[in-house]
Amino acid sequence: MEFCEKCGSVIAIEEGKIACVGCGHKVKKKPKIESSEKIDKKEGVAIVNEEISTYPIVQIDCTKCGNKKAYFWTIQTRSADESETKFYKCTKCNHTWRKYR
Ligand SMILES: [Zn+2]
Ligand SMILES: [Zn+2]
Repeated sequence: MEFCEKCGSVIAIEEGKIACVGCGHKVKKKPKIESSEKIDKKEGVAIVNEEISTYPIVQIDCTKCGNKKAYFWTIQTRSADESETKFYKCTKCNHTWRKYR
């Protein structure tokens, strides 16, 4: 809430015009609008707590060391209409990467 610099009355916005309700003094600047915008940037990198060795091993080239075998699992992200994300973990260097369908 803002107050008139001349008479101290409340500044009101009516029909797009900002003016004092007491003396009619017009305010040119717009009143501050508090922005409580919060951007959630949780980029989900899946951390697997389970024993990794229970996952099946597939033949795929490790993008890091060139090993041709990696553990494979999928994780359904957020909503059901989003495609599942495929995760691979190299059996040799433990490098983990993911692939979208
Ligand atoms: Zn005023
Ligand atoms: Zn590797």
